[in-house]
Parts: sequence; C-alpha cells; structure tokens
Amino acid sequence: MIPGVDPRLLEKWEPVIGLEVHAQLATESKMFCRCRRIYGAPPNTHTCPVCLAYPGALPVLNAQAVEFAIRMGQAVGCQIRSLTTFARKNYFYPDLPKGYQISQYDEPICEHGQLSFYLEDGSMSTVGITRIHMEEDAGKTIHGVKNESYVDFNRCGTPLIEIVSEPDIRSPHEARRYLERLKQTLEYTAVSQADMEKGNLRCDANISIRPRGSQTLGTRTEMKNLNSFRGVERGLTYEINRQIQVLESGGTVTLCTLNWDEATGETQIMRTKEEAHDYRYFPEPDLVPLLIDPQRVAAIKASLPELPAALERRFTEQYGLRSQDVEILARTRQLAAYYEAVVQAGVAPTDAAQWILGEVLRVLNEEHQEIQDFPLKPAALAELIQATTQGTINRNTGKNVFDKMLKEGLSVTEIVERDQLAQVSDTAALEDTVRQVLAGSPKELGRYRGGEAKLFGYFMGQVMAATKGQGDPQVVRSLLQQILDES
Ligand code: ADP
Ligand code: MG
Ligand code: ZN
Repeated sequence: MIPGVDPRLLEKWEPVIGLEVHAQLATESKMFCRCRRIYGAPPNTHTCPVCLAYPGALPVLNAQAVEFAIRMGQAVGCQIRSLTTFARKNYFYPDLPKGYQISQYDEPICEHGQLSFYLEDGSMSTVGITRIHMEEDAGKTIHGVKNESYVDFNRCGTPLIEIVSEPDIRSPHEARRYLERLKQTLEYTAVSQADMEKGNLRCDANISIRPRGSQTLGTRTEMKNLNSFRGVERGLTYEINRQIQVLESGGTVTLCTLNWDEATGETQIMRTKEEAHDYRYFPEPDLVPLLIDPQRVAAIKASLPELPAALERRFTEQYGLRSQDVEILARTRQLAAYYEAVVQAGVAPTDAAQWILGEVLRVLNEEHQEIQDFPLKPAALAELIQATTQGTINRNTGKNVFDKMLKEGLSVTEIVERDQLAQVSDTAALEDTVRQVLAGSPKELGRYRGGEAKLFGYFMGQVMAATKGQGDPQVVRSLLQQILDES
C-alpha cells in the first residue's frame, strides 16, 4: 500500500529507492581551514585564502570532522577503514572557487552499516548503509530580483558527510522513516544539527521500478532538492507514478537527474545521461592518506551515547509506555531527557508521559519552540503534576495553572494560593452546594426523577461550575448520587 499510487499497479510493479543524504558536521571550524563554520552570517565574512582557493593555499584536515565521521559510522554499525584517502571531484560552478570539491572516492572512511526503524504499521525495517564519506560543501548562489546572481562563500569548505544507502527502500513512507531515523541518530550523537530547514541535512533520492519478483534493478532516476520530510514522500510518490506510467505504456525509463519543485509538486529534468557529469575523480595530491588508529575508533565507540533504538526499547520496558508514545518522546534526545527528569522528580511514568505528550507538546507546537527553550523546567512540571495527583488541585485546574505558570513564571504553590484554587474536598461545604444546585433546578430534578438519567451529568456540571471548577469531581459525584438517592 502506497497512498497516492494505484494498488493494482503495485501488485505488478515494485518501487526501489536508495537515498544519498548529506549532513553538515557540527564542527567549530571548516573542513580544511580555520574559518568558522557559521550559518546566517553576512555574506563572505567567513572566508580565507584556503576556502577561496587562492593559488598556493594548502588544506589542513580538521580532526574534529574525522572524529564526527567515525562517530556516525559507529552509530550505524559501519566498519571504519584503517586507511582512508581523499579525492578530487572536478566540476565547474560559480559557487566552487577551486573548480573541484575535495571528497572521497574508492576508500571512504566508513562502509557496510545499517539502520533500523519502525514503520507506521509497527513492523521493523532495516536499511543497509553502503558507505559514509567525508567531503566539503560548496558556497551558495543567491539569485537577485533582476537577473543578477551573487555568490556567498561562507558555506564553502563546510565539513559534510554523505551517507549512501543500499537500494533497500520500498516506499516513500519507508524513505521518510529512514531519513527521520538518520536525523535522530545525527542529533543523538551530536554529529550534526541535522536541521533540514537550515540545509544542515539534504537528501537526494534514486528511484527505479521493476516487475515484482524480479531480482535485477530497473533504470533509475535521481531526484534532487527534496528538502523536507514531506517533500521526500511527495516527490517519491510523484516519481513512482510517473515511472509506472512510462512502463505501463510500453516505454522505458531514461537515466536522468530530476529537480523536485515543492511549490508545483512536480519534477523537471535537470540533465540526461548524455549531459551527465564526468567528475574525473583522482587522488587529492594536497592531502596525505589518513591512517586511523583502531584504538581511537574503539574509544569513540565506547563514548557513544545511548542511541534512539536502545532508548526506545528502554523507555518501553522501564516505564511501561505505549510504543507510539515512546516514539514521540524519543524523537529528540532533549525531549527524552526532559521526560526522564520529570519521572526522576517523583512523577509516575504514565502521568509524566500524558502531561508532556498533551500539554507540553501542545505549547511547543503553538509557539514553534524546542524543549530546550521551554520555560517550565522538569522540576516545576513535576510539582504541578504531583499537585493534581495528590488532590491539591484537580486535573482541569491543573491545566489552567500550567498556562499561568508559563505566562507568569510563578510556581504552582504561588498560583494556587494567590488564586485560591485549592480543590474543595470538604464534604460538608460541597454538600451545601449540591443541595443548592438541586433546589435551584426543580424542572431538571423532575425530569431526572421521571427517568432521564442523563441529567446526572447536567447536575455534575452545575455543581462544578458553582465551585468554580475547584470541587473534587469524585467527592461531588458521590455526594450527588447520595443526595439524589435520598428522596
Ligand atoms: P552515483 O554515484 O551515480 O550517485 P551510486 O551507485 O553511488 O551512484 O548510487 C547512489 C544511490 O542510488 C545509492 O543510494 C543506491 O542505493 C541507489 N541506487 C543505485 N541504483 C539504483 C536503482 N536501480 N534503483 C534505485 N536506487 C538505486
Ligand atoms: Mg548520486
Ligand atoms: Zn577559510
């Protein structure tokens, strides 16, 4: 089943997808020079003779970039080469001052890994990772309003890893989940900020169709510019339909590079096989082969944090949460840590999950905020949740107090005292209120006695309103039942 693709055609044809993902590494400086790696600075304020390719300037490899590449390789179970080399990938473009990109070719730093994740239907999928190699980013061309273009070289020389998957992916949804898991892994290991909106994480997709049951790969097309998770799903769905149509009408798919246009939801051909780049790869003469010490690799492996799959498993077992809830809580390392801090402050795991998945995520979505910037710290939220579970305030009042804590920056106790919100469980006081409400609603009381049992809810509502929401609902309910049963 692929939404948007005719299921009868899918019985006959099988989509095959492989992704090439570029991630900018979270280093302080660039890949081969001391310029700062920075996003959003004024154009051309972070450049030097090396990243501007002045004649005679020589690259010096950034050790932190190598460390990050190894770390990501280890996180996805790759083998790390003990000897890795750099290569020149030659092409001309205005944003590439050297006329070539320093990359890796036949001896990439990491090979033969895999990544596992869950699909929508709860089944697990494992996608092979062919290789991870290091390379440098190009600059950025900015097109002006009148037909002019500008080049910003700040991004030039930013360290990247390219993560190449095996053609193991079978649907747009699976491609999206793979990419989400990759992003999550990059964030957990702090290898990359992995923000697609900022271009830290970029995805090209290769796609082909073959008759179901066939073991050989069909001719593929490569799609560029899939710059959001939704874009990946939409672009791939579009291309699957296009290729199936071509094959159904007796045609053949031609090898080409396509550009996905998010606005129109269509692709245009960027170049065909005839125009395909010949990158004339050759060994980079300015950088010596890099020997990687296996002990260093082992130390990096030992220092890896808990990875998404392991954390999800632990949350499920240790806290007894539902898998769909765990998946959301584990989406970022910071949200998972926030959750655990609330639990460690003494809140029952399911209560903490309920509040965070409900109230906290609601506010984060509304405010477009990250949990790191959320003003309510875990201890403050824990205090609030405990006030509701211990009966100081009821759950509804709790939600109001939550909003007030956010707006006013006060503690639960301060707000409850100031606004006199403490829950009324005092039976005598509540009994008076119940009797007043019943005395004030003779018509409804008559209908209730006449058999309209649903009016019980109406009385409940009236009594709760009379207590301004502060009545303990359980006490009110049993008092109401008792008094209605009396006569
Ligand atoms: P290139 O270097 O031209 O980009 P690669 O052979 O390195 O090509 O493959 C790039 C990506 O394309 C990989 O993710 C791979 O899994 C995928 N791929 C290769 N052949 C196919 C195919 N026939 N259908 C779908 N994906 C493919
Ligand atoms: Mg490619
Ligand atoms: Zn520089």
